[in-house]
Amino acid sequence: MARIAVIGAGMGAMAAAARLAVAGHRVVVHERTGTYGGALGRFERDGFSFDTGPGLLPLPAVWRDLFVKTGKEPLESRVELVQVDPSSRHVFADGTEVSLPNASRAGVVAALDAALGPAAGQRWGDFLVRARETWDRTRRPLLEEPLWPNWEVLAEREPYPAVPHKRLLRTRRAGTLAEVGAWELRDARLAALLESHALAYGLDPRTAPANSAVLPYMEYAFGMWYVRGGGLRELARAVYERCLARRVEFRFGAEVTGIVEKDGRVAGVELAEGAVAEAEFVVAGVAPGVLDRLCGGSPVRGGGEVPPRRDGASRLTVLLALRGGRPQGTAHRTVVHAPDRDAELDALFGAAPRMPSRPTVTVVRPEDPALVPDADHEAVTVSSVVPAGGDGPDREDRAERLVEAAERAVPGLRDRLLWHEVRTPADVAAATGVADGAIPVPALAGAGGRLLHPANGTRTGGLFTVGGWSHPGGGLPHAGMSGALVAGLVVEGPEFRGSR
Ligand SMILES: Cc1cc2nc3c(=O)[nH]c(=O)nc-3n(C[C@H](O)[C@H](O)[C@H](O)COP(=O)(O)OP(=O)(O)OC[C@H]3O[C@@H](n4cnc5c(N)ncnc54)[C@H](O)[C@@H]3O)c2cc1C
Repeated sequence: MARIAVIGAGMGAMAAAARLAVAGHRVVVHERTGTYGGALGRFERDGFSFDTGPGLLPLPAVWRDLFVKTGKEPLESRVELVQVDPSSRHVFADGTEVSLPNASRAGVVAALDAALGPAAGQRWGDFLVRARETWDRTRRPLLEEPLWPNWEVLAEREPYPAVPHKRLLRTRRAGTLAEVGAWELRDARLAALLESHALAYGLDPRTAPANSAVLPYMEYAFGMWYVRGGGLRELARAVYERCLARRVEFRFGAEVTGIVEKDGRVAGVELAEGAVAEAEFVVAGVAPGVLDRLCGGSPVRGGGEVPPRRDGASRLTVLLALRGGRPQGTAHRTVVHAPDRDAELDALFGAAPRMPSRPTVTVVRPEDPALVPDADHEAVTVSSVVPAGGDGPDREDRAERLVEAAERAVPGLRDRLLWHEVRTPADVAAATGVADGAIPVPALAGAGGRLLHPANGTRTGGLFTVGGWSHPGGGLPHAGMSGALVAGLVVEGPEFRGSR
């Protein structure tokens, strides 16, 4: 039995903690805030309740696996997981609307045919076949296995099987997601649908590699899920309780200020009050900037390794408490596309990143009595991708832009408004400890390795990294997998090659 200090109670860290405790180790989680879950926060007021992090769960199999491997009770007996249907409604720039059924390729093709014209559904369906091939090629190295020591192979090869595209005398293949949209989907609305999947993760579709096709694929193949009875925060609660049941100890209000090292190996963690908690292994679920500080500036990554990503966009979220109940048949999630996508991307990803004047917004309207004081009220969340950092004085003005865009999907929104709450990148920073509130993106292949994340093992013996800022990157499924990978590496050593 080893003593293991886990830094942070984010989802990746808790996933590792539960698995390590089951393997017989003594695990103590040190969390700087007063609660667990990191990004998966909740805001409550006057009987209303809102998720302040993700509003939907892709690929729940990752979390089901955690519950199977750490106890007898399955995830479903701890939380009520429901597939949302439709999985999303899209309101495009030209006013066309389409509702896409959850996890049904045939249903999605039929819906797109009906809304955009017969050839559109078929083109999207053909794209999903290529996206599945991409998923099959990358699933193991990019989700289920520790980062390959020869990761350059992943960086160099674009796994998306692009369709040859003849242009004048040249034949080209799409290398970016935007090119897949323009050359293979050949419809501005289908391209917008595709690009919205990258944008939702804070990626610029003009530079995101074509294998970002796995992002929509995950959604269409495995469905989008909601946790009824309080939202995604309930998933964090269930994982926290599973940790407690496995005798993981939690210390809240316990900021780690340093990692203690002796002869090239970790020896414990130093806490804000100066005390040292000794440990044979340290699992750090924090961003690279935080890790640098904890290591006193000594590099934990060597040359030839994937460098840590320090960038990422953030989110602006407006929580709306409304009078009047949620109408029957309302979509859980509506994406209202920006009227001018190029202007939006230029603003977000240009030389001086700023919030677009008319952004794409995601409106989330869960069917969940636990979120409202009674059936005559509704809790609605509107969010959009914004540059990290930038918390200007124009916070209300920026929130106003989101509400204005959302009104295209929810007519009469303002008339129903009781109160609203704005959550900015500064709030994301407060919840996660990431200085500018950046949100990490999932690992993707190709693009010269720009979108890979560093391996979970480090140069310092016994020090591992977990969560969205290390392999396999950000997002709930990815963070959950990082927990499984770190537990495997600690228990089985560097020979560990994946848990599934
Ligand atoms: C607004 C928002 C929307 C999102 N939307 C989606 C989405 O739609 N789909 C999706 O898949 N993902 C989404 N994500 C990302 C997803 O929530 C995260 O990738 C996932 O929760 C993994 O988090 P993590 O394990 O990296 O830990 P984090 O959530 O980053 O938590 C890190 C924890 O470490 C603690 N900590 C930091 N420094 C220290 C220290 N020195 N000592 C002690 N504790 C410390 C922090 O307090 C925090 O609790 C979203 C995130 C946010 C914020």
